[in-house]
Amino acid sequence: MTGTTATATGTAAGDTASRVLVLNSGSSSVKYQLLDMRDSSRLAAGLVERIGEQTSRLVHTPLGGGGGDKRERTGPIADHAAALKAVAEELAADGLGLDSPELAAIGHRVVHGGLRFSAPTVIDDAVLAEIERLVPVAPLHNPANLTGIRTAMDLRPDLPQIAVFDTAFHTTMPESAARYAIDVETADAHRIRRYGFHGTSHAYVSRETAKLLGKAPEEVNVIVLHLGNGASASAVKGGRCVDTSMGLTPLEGLVMGTRSGDIDPAVTFHLKRVAGMSTDEIDVLLNKRSGLVGLCGDNDMREIRRRIDEGDERALLAFDIYIHRLRKYIGAYYAVLGRVDAVAFTAGVGENAAPVREAAIAGLEELGLAVDADLNSVRSEKARLISPEYARVAVAVVPTDEELEIATQSYALVRGVNA
Ligand code: AMP
Repeated sequence: MTGTTATATGTAAGDTASRVLVLNSGSSSVKYQLLDMRDSSRLAAGLVERIGEQTSRLVHTPLGGGGGDKRERTGPIADHAAALKAVAEELAADGLGLDSPELAAIGHRVVHGGLRFSAPTVIDDAVLAEIERLVPVAPLHNPANLTGIRTAMDLRPDLPQIAVFDTAFHTTMPESAARYAIDVETADAHRIRRYGFHGTSHAYVSRETAKLLGKAPEEVNVIVLHLGNGASASAVKGGRCVDTSMGLTPLEGLVMGTRSGDIDPAVTFHLKRVAGMSTDEIDVLLNKRSGLVGLCGDNDMREIRRRIDEGDERALLAFDIYIHRLRKYIGAYYAVLGRVDAVAFTAGVGENAAPVREAAIAGLEELGLAVDADLNSVRSEKARLISPEYARVAVAVVPTDEELEIATQSYALVRGVNA
């Protein structure tokens, strides 16, 4: 179902199970949302952080029926099992217990699904084993995702547990975009290729962009720019991803908050041979001490803009490098798609930073691209166009909603399975 994500309606007579719990499990954190898929509304949301430390914290926000006050728990939460138990208690206190027959499924964000998973998947032992097999290509993320899944399965073994993969939307890429130009046997032996990430966001935003244009996803070609702390671009042709900027790992592509994005791979040999750095040190340098933070010490675009306004030259150079890379990808994906109907900005920077959108599109009128300054300065949580009417290509700001996408895909799957 990749690229043609079904929309769940969930209102069939007699069908009471309409809630989906979405879990995003990190190594020391769990983010969650409980949604009612009858109207895609949010019933509760929260976060457990610093799991395994003395200073763990759970923040729970009731959102259903007019909402309620945010609640906070502090103190040690030993592991993911304890975290999920605490979440279950908070939900039960709102009358939303995980033992409720209204819970239809638990949807798990799984970062790496390799080539095998091109669609949301009901988790069983074989699926767990395959996610485990992918740990070498996602050493930071897949183990944490697995821990979250196993914990939830222990809690509700009877309930469908669905894996929604960050890579799934990108499995439609042609080999010409997905393969690196290295020795084929070596690449295949080690499963080295472009997988891409942020797939639920690219899927959701490309579809919402089509909706904004009043068209079906199959009718439009969109360049999606997911600019958060992590950042990626994708070229989406008629609802299917044909190229994306992240690669084997989320390190490739755009300049990000702390990641370098594209870099000559020989830089790593050089750092090893000449600077005497270890592989782990280089990994940390490129993933944690590069990008905007490496260039100017800050990774928050608000702070960078504030510094630029004060005349800070390092912040300005960081901004210029960020924008230069972004424009290169817009140009590249324009050529990949041939015809572009829309460029869509999303995620923390894309949704909020008007100067980034302005600078990314400036001077591209020959490509049919322009940004209207007044529309660009409007702050809104709604999807909107920021291009002037005369522009041939729409430029849009489309807030992403990865939790809703995970819930929608999970619910559509269980409804299909149960039908
Ligand atoms: P995300 O990873 O999508 O949550 O995005 C986080 C990033 O969005 C932050 O690191 C900031 O750089 C950026 N951001 C969030 N709010 C704003 C804002 N109001 N203006 C500019 N950038 C913002």
